[in-house]
Amino acid sequence: MSLVNTVMHSFKNHSLFRQIFQTENKLIKYGSLGLVTCLISYVLGPDIFRVLFRSSGNKASLRYDKYTTGLINKGNDCFINSSLQGLAGSQRFNHYLNSVLRCLKFLNENPKQEGNRYALPLHQVMAEFIYDLQAPTFLNTVESSDKIIVTMESIFKQKMSRRQNDAQEFTQLLLEVLHNEYQELIRLMNFITNNLDIPTYPFEGKYCHELTCLKCGRNSEVKMFDFDILTLNLPAQPSISLDELISGSNSDVIEGFSCTVCKVSAILGGTGTHNPNTRSLIKSLKEIFPELKINTELDEPLNSFVDSYSHDGVITRNIKSTIVKKTVFVEVPDILLIHLTRSMFNGMSYTRNACKIAYDEKLLLEHQLVMDGVSVMRNNIQYTLSSAIKHSGSHSMGHYQCYRRKLFSKRFEPIDLTLEPSPGTGRNISKTNKETITFKRTPTVKRYPFWWICDSRTKECPLRSVLDEQKSVYLLYYDKKH
Ligand SMILES: [Zn+2]
Repeated sequence: MSLVNTVMHSFKNHSLFRQIFQTENKLIKYGSLGLVTCLISYVLGPDIFRVLFRSSGNKASLRYDKYTTGLINKGNDCFINSSLQGLAGSQRFNHYLNSVLRCLKFLNENPKQEGNRYALPLHQVMAEFIYDLQAPTFLNTVESSDKIIVTMESIFKQKMSRRQNDAQEFTQLLLEVLHNEYQELIRLMNFITNNLDIPTYPFEGKYCHELTCLKCGRNSEVKMFDFDILTLNLPAQPSISLDELISGSNSDVIEGFSCTVCKVSAILGGTGTHNPNTRSLIKSLKEIFPELKINTELDEPLNSFVDSYSHDGVITRNIKSTIVKKTVFVEVPDILLIHLTRSMFNGMSYTRNACKIAYDEKLLLEHQLVMDGVSVMRNNIQYTLSSAIKHSGSHSMGHYQCYRRKLFSKRFEPIDLTLEPSPGTGRNISKTNKETITFKRTPTVKRYPFWWICDSRTKECPLRSVLDEQKSVYLLYYDKKH
């Protein structure tokens, strides 16, 4: 039973409700009805009209892929709803949750001490929640995100502020809790066994900025940065492609760089004669030259020697080159979550950057294999768009909506709740989502591969509708190809 039905059902059975309907006093009857209406309006907020008139606007479809489950908005919840729907479009997330549930089941069946009970509250609740969102439905059904919020609040031991209305900040918070629980799982698993496949955390990636000197062709030392959401700052220009934004290849050119390799190369290429002390320093430079990077900081006295070198026409402080800065990925995540920051500071206040981002259903990420700090090989990793969140409105206020991919294919791996059902839910989990669907290649899934989800309202849509959100796209979810 959906939340809406539950609410209506409990109102109908409530003694106050029955009293209101049974009373003969019209003033009390209609006055009280007004009160109840106000109460329902307060609880259900913007969704009230939809709830009241759902029977007329929500005809059952003969197809299981026409509708999906939306989420109720109690007033300011679109950032929560969109963040959760975004995760439900990822097949990789299902796979991850199942692996975690499998490990948890193993731990509870093989406790280190008799009676030990292990729990990963957010993972478990998330698995049930995603299962419900993905369950095939012939109606536009409605659920509530309450169980996720209640779990988060009990983990943080405080009420969540509904005023914090940024989908990226909320997603970041979710991922932090998931990551903490994941690390706890790894700790327990390593403690007990190393025989089971331990899942990798699907959001974690590493990138580095690689600088290349256009004069000598050598690269910089590799400096790594971890991420679970890849944040990209939009440029102050009308449009840019996502590929360009990620690689930074076209925008980041730095002039006047003082390249260590170019300077040492000029000194070694000189023909003048030197005194014995200088000759010994040059010998040292020759030895280290093959390993030099363009930003290597030399030890003293070599550093001072190279920087102040002025001999036989070679003056190192005058040697400048142009470098290009490129972002390369040294570890690619299973789920690439991209945050496009649309905040722009104009010196006085923040405004919204309406730069158009051209993105595609497929994305290639350049993966750089690094061994001992040296780049050795590159290959391209293919990703497919699973969800997108748009933000419309101004910088300070607005509305979030989500596009979620229909996960109806033979490859679909449903959440397996038989692995670790929460005690006492009374849920019928004898059938998984997959078993309830007959996997015929439905033409409508091909024609309308996504749902557009605005809180409780859902509608199927073509890929073009998703890709056309260039001006308001805010978060993008890409699944790594299997
Ligand atoms: Zn150089």
